[in-house]
Amino acid sequence: MPVPKRIVVKLGTGVLTSDGGILDGARIGGVCAQLASLRSTGSEVLVVSSGAVGLGMGVMGLSRRPRELARKQACAAIGQGLLMQTWQSAFARHGVTVAQVLLTHDDLRIRSRYLGVQETLSELISYGSVPIINENDTVSAAEIMFGDNDTLSAMVASLVEAEFLIILSTACGLVDLRGSGRIVPVVEKITPEIEAMAQGTTSETAVGGMVSKISAAKIATRAGCGVFIASGAEPEIVPRLLAGHGPGTFFVPSGIPLDAKKRWLAYFQRPAGTIRVSAPALRPLLKEGRSLLAVGVTGSSGSFEAGEVVNIAGPDGVVFARGQSAFSSSEVPAIAGKKGEDVRVLFPRRRRTEVVHRNDLVLL
Ligand code: GLU
Repeated sequence: MPVPKRIVVKLGTGVLTSDGGILDGARIGGVCAQLASLRSTGSEVLVVSSGAVGLGMGVMGLSRRPRELARKQACAAIGQGLLMQTWQSAFARHGVTVAQVLLTHDDLRIRSRYLGVQETLSELISYGSVPIINENDTVSAAEIMFGDNDTLSAMVASLVEAEFLIILSTACGLVDLRGSGRIVPVVEKITPEIEAMAQGTTSETAVGGMVSKISAAKIATRAGCGVFIASGAEPEIVPRLLAGHGPGTFFVPSGIPLDAKKRWLAYFQRPAGTIRVSAPALRPLLKEGRSLLAVGVTGSSGSFEAGEVVNIAGPDGVVFARGQSAFSSSEVPAIAGKKGEDVRVLFPRRRRTEVVHRNDLVLL
């Protein structure tokens, strides 16, 4: 088996706990043993672990995932400590140090913080410790949430440029419910048909379901990372998957991965606004890799500052790109449809006249 340089393994609440939010110690111990042996062959391992809310629910005697944000946050605060204790003692048996990393969406959306997280993670890895990452649920208000750990794990895989992301859950892989009823072993490309195969989750503790796993696979494969979705209940699942024998679904990494800045633009953002462009502006953007010029802009919606990431939509309103706008939403009306020299006269101190420079623009 070729040894992957770096892998991210995500475990869902359903894998870590049995009914009623009780930790499944044997399961966690088994996964730790697999990851520890992978590390001993030279792989760097990062874990994204759900389970904080689920474990907190167990302690508080709740059988249903709370809908109220404050109660969910309270559960997470109670459960996160337990979760870390568990990982710590399970890895300690193999002489491996773990490190708790709790992130909010803003930590990855804001460029300076994203770069800071990247540095911290590589520092932790260079110490030989295994980062155990989760969303900082206790302080994540609705608008700053990842929403589910599948997305978080894909962002982490992209951030650390992992070779593989393994998503372990209660699902055995992507099942072709409309066709063969079997697990799809390999997905070369995530098409609308593949997306249609994904079903929502029905579990009381799980969040994402297959829909969020497919969208996570999209993010990670564009980063050049191969993604496995498999059951965490299968024995020795990690080495089996990596050897190509595992039951599960493998998503082939995209041939030409996007560069790191473009990945951050495409997948780590929640743009606050949209710039609309004219039909003649589409070709240079879509086919020729050009910058978005003021002359092609017809207007904008939403409210954004200069330097913020915005969506870019065609005349039909369909968003086809994202980029960092050099102009704020209140400045757009003044420059829309104008030539570069007129923009320079209006904004003489602006470094560039392009509205979105091609280096800061990514097609979706
Ligand atoms: N961060 C949540 C938790 O630790 C889990 C979210 C998810 O499972 O996707 O409970």
